[in-house]
Parts: sequence; C-alpha cells; structure tokens
Amino acid sequence: MPSTTEPKNATKLTILVVEDNEMNREILVDLLSDDYNVLEADNGLTGLAAMEAHADELSVILLDVYMPECNGFEFLERKRRDPRYDSLPVIVMTASSTVTDEIRCLQLGASDFISKPYNTEVMKNRIQSIIRLRSASSMLHRLERDKLTGLFSKEFFFEGVKAELAAHLGEPYDIVVSDVEHFRRVIDRYGEERCDAFLATLAERITKALPDMILGGRIDYDVFAFLIRHQDGDWTASLDAVAEDGLIGASVKYGIMTGIDPHLPVSTLCDRAGMALNKIRGQYNARVAWYNEDLLKNQLRDHIIVEGMQDAISRHEFQVYYQPKHDVRKNRIGGAEALVRWTHPVLGFISPGIFIPLFERNGFITSLDRYIMEEVCIELKRCREEGLPTVPISVNLSRMNFDNPKLADEIAAMADKYGVDHNLLHIELTESAAGDDPKSVAALLKQMHDAGFVIELDDFGSGYSALASLFTLSLDVMKMDMSIIRHAAQASNYSLARYAIMLAECMKLKTVAEGVETVDQASALKVLGCDYIQGNYYSKPLPREEFEKYLVEGPRNATAI
Ligand code: C2E
Ligand code: CA
Ligand code: CA
Repeated sequence: MPSTTEPKNATKLTILVVEDNEMNREILVDLLSDDYNVLEADNGLTGLAAMEAHADELSVILLDVYMPECNGFEFLERKRRDPRYDSLPVIVMTASSTVTDEIRCLQLGASDFISKPYNTEVMKNRIQSIIRLRSASSMLHRLERDKLTGLFSKEFFFEGVKAELAAHLGEPYDIVVSDVEHFRRVIDRYGEERCDAFLATLAERITKALPDMILGGRIDYDVFAFLIRHQDGDWTASLDAVAEDGLIGASVKYGIMTGIDPHLPVSTLCDRAGMALNKIRGQYNARVAWYNEDLLKNQLRDHIIVEGMQDAISRHEFQVYYQPKHDVRKNRIGGAEALVRWTHPVLGFISPGIFIPLFERNGFITSLDRYIMEEVCIELKRCREEGLPTVPISVNLSRMNFDNPKLADEIAAMADKYGVDHNLLHIELTESAAGDDPKSVAALLKQMHDAGFVIELDDFGSGYSALASLFTLSLDVMKMDMSIIRHAAQASNYSLARYAIMLAECMKLKTVAEGVETVDQASALKVLGCDYIQGNYYSKPLPREEFEKYLVEGPRNATAI
C-alpha cells in the first residue's frame, strides 16, 4: 500500500513514486525526500489508488513502465480517462534503450522521461521544471489578469475575444500568437527569475509593436495571444525589433490568423495561428508565419506521418541513400553521406525536409537516427565481407540525440557490434545543434572523437553562430553549406568559400563542399583547396545497389576538373 517514509511536511510538495522494484524505490526515496514528501506504490493498481486518494496534494508522479498487476502503459491509459487528473504530470522512468516505449508513453500523455540508471542532477532538474511549468499554468487559469505580464489569463482572454467578436459581427479581426523557442532550455540556462523578467518585457514590447491591438492574453507559460483589428498587407516589420537586443538571446516566433471566422471557438482560432507558428519552429531566419488552408492539409499529412512512424521502422519503410563525397586530390570517391528516404504506404514518397523537422519536434528523430546508424553499420560490414571498396560513411545526428548522456557509448557499442572501424563512421552535426547548450554537446563530441569517430560540422555558414563552436568543439571536418556555393555562383566569386576554407585550414579541419552541381563550381573549389566535393555534379544520393556499383566504377566525369 502507499506509504510515506517520513512524517508529512506541509511546506514540501508531494511526489508519488510508482515502481515495483523495491531497491529502485528506495533509491528514489533517498534522492527525493530531502526536497519532497514522497509517497510510494509498488505497482500500477496501488499507484492508481494512491493517485485517487492524494490527488489534491500531488505535484508529480514518477512512473515505472514494467510492473506486475498494472503496468505503466495501463496506468497512463486509465489516468487519461479521468479528466480530474488532466493537469497532473507524469514522468516515466525507462531503461534508456526503449525508445518505442517512450513514444508510446508520450502518446498516452506522459510529460517527460528519465532514463535509468538515474542521474541525480538530471532527475531533480526535470522534476523541478515540470512542477514549475504546471504550477504556473494552473495559476494562470484562476486569475483574470496574469500578474507577471499584465495580460489577461487564458480563460478571460478567450471570453473577452468571444464577446468582442459577437459585439462587432462583420468587422474583420486577426489573431496573433507568440511563442518563445526552447523555453524550457532557456529556463534551465538562465533561471526562473530572469526568464520571468524576460516574459514581462516581451509582453510589453509585443503589445506596443502590434497595430490596433484590442486584447492580449497569456495562454500558456511562454505563449501569448492577441486580438488585433484586421491589417492589410504585411505589417510585421514592427515585430522584428521586439526580442532582438539581447533579451537573453531567446528567439520569439509569431503565428498569425487573418480574417478570422467569429463563429469558430477562440481556442481553435489560436490553435490555427499556433499551427502557422509551428511551421517555422527551429527555422533560424523565419520569425512570422501566416495561417492558410494548406496548413490544415499539412496538419492532416503530419498526423498520418506521426501515426505511421513507429511501424515504418519495423516494416523497413525507411531506406538509406548514399551520396558520394569526391576526394579532390585522389580524384576518386572518398566517402559518402547517408540520407534517409521514406516511401509511405499511403502518402508515397515523402521528402526528409518534411518528416525530419516533424520528428525533431516529437522526439522520434533519435529512434530514426539510431536506425539509420545501424543500417549504415550493416552496409559497412557487408562491403567488407563482399570485398567491395570501403569508404567512410557519415550519418546525420539531430540535436536531440545529444540530450542522451550515453550517446557516445551507444554509438561505439553499435559500431563494435558490426565490427565497424570507428574511423569509418562519421558523425554530421548540424550547425544549429552545435549552437545549442554547447557544454553537453561539446562533452559528448569529445568522447566520440576520442573513441575514433570522425566529427563533421554540417551546414557551416548557414546562419547560426558557429564560429565559436569551431573553437570549442572536437571537430575534424567542416562541411560548407550549399548557400556558400550558391552565393559564389551569383556573385561570380568564391570569396565566402575561400574564407571558409582558410578558416578550416587554420583550425586543421578538412573541408567538404556540399550541393555542387556544375563543373565550374567543382573546378573553382579544387583551386581553392577544398578537400572533398559532394553534390549532384558527381552523383545524386543513390540507393544501396547503385551506390555499390559507384564504389567500384567511380563517377563518369572524374577527369573533368
Ligand atoms: P543535409 O544534411 O544538408 O543534406 C544535404 C541535402 O542536400 C540532401 O537533401 C541532399 O539530397 C541534397 N543535395 C545533395 N546534392 C545536391 C545538389 O547538388 N543540389 C541540391 N539542390 N541539393 C543537393 P535531403 O536528402 O532532402 O535531406 C535534407 C536534410 O534532411 C538533410 O540536409 C539533413 O539535415 C536531413 N536528413 C536527411 N537524412 C537524415 C537522417 O538520417 N537523420 C537526420 N537527423 N537528418 C537527416
Ligand atoms: Ca548532412
Ligand atoms: Ca548539410
């Protein structure tokens, strides 16, 4: 039965630990009881009973997945059926290798994960930030005005908009929604106080920047919504300066729904503005997005993609294509990049440009990247066994992989499982990944680098602040972004490429030019001393069989430059 290990302390928040393994439970109680009242339950059923009995006191539930009687999935399923527990967050504790479990838990409404074995700091931070977000958002529901920003609370904003629209039927209005990117990470980095001050300033500045603003509301921790009188044309330049001047460096995005239908629920109007906003999340150079009907279609498509992503792995719907990297000096293939392709049973061919950003948002990207990495190891093993020429193959790793402190060990284990030499496996790190939370990324990269893997900085020059990362990360290769080559073609000079190559030489990095399409580009890069050239000029990304043929036969135009 649920029990507390210590007399209850009224100043502490209460956590329920649902876990069948007694030792694990004791560890958790040890870790947490300084800061929280800890209730314990030894399986899902007693856990549900404890949740019912203590619903009002609980701040968060820590839930094991595999338990007798009623496991974590059933627990989440049953909890979800009862709206009384809607706002009670659950953190699921998983063994780190079970990404499929994590996805399933997410779909069942879990808020976050902690991998076993526990890292005390990570665990405490997760718990704290979840509790913080929850208490802030439940506060918001109760008050008319949000104290921090002076905007209306969510419910009052919705009511206010509804009343305004009903009173002026026939007059056109727009809804603007703002959101701070990666706010949880921003909180972790700057602390709550500075983030609160930031939100207050932000609300004030947006309010001033909006034309004909009527009502503003804080509809989530870091999400604001505004009703404005309809504006013709693009007026959004006024938003550019809002978060520009070092407001803790956070990036703010806006979604706009124009000419709104007054008969739709206000929450739907805000959702649609939010849908527009979602489209530009993570895009460095986009600040504002407008809602249109295509977005609704895209949302449907995205929904189908997410529904099918898990099965796509077990059904081998994802395929690896290989794009050769031409070694300029040796004038033959010097490597290849693995690029994922997906033929969906309903949607047909889908470009990675569509599903990768989606998976980066819902977390599935780590499963996909791991799958691709394994396929690449299998291919490298095959080439060795069949006596084909072997070249290093690089794999793209999205930012999210770097939240896993065991990433380097897992990659090494994967390579060793297939007997793949570490220097045959290259890691491509996107520039945006390098810019985020540099400390943990740097530590993991160093581990991988020390284990013999080759690290490539992808998309160099695409706009993120990567200069600093050149000095702080353990890199071996700089991949110049396509835009550098495109710029050269337009300006008919290669000064950007020249500087990038000089910089790489100073840092003792090899260079790869990407997206090279013409003989002129290829020969110019050769003159500048670029080491490798990748792009349609030599070869498009190829399916495995064709890639193996290329390995033996080489490019058709090898002597052209
Ligand atoms: P990226 O890493 O910058 O990959 C290069 C992209 O340029 C690929 O697009 C490639 O097909 C394309 N490309 C190559 N040569 C040329 C050329 O000569 N001209 C032009 N216009 N394009 C060329 P793709 O395959 O559509 O992939 C798009 C992005 O999706 C990749 O950009 C990468 O960021 C991401 N991606 C692809 N596969 C994976 C994966 O397995 N994991 C992760 N995390 N991301 C992936
Ligand atoms: Ca890449
Ligand atoms: Ca790239």
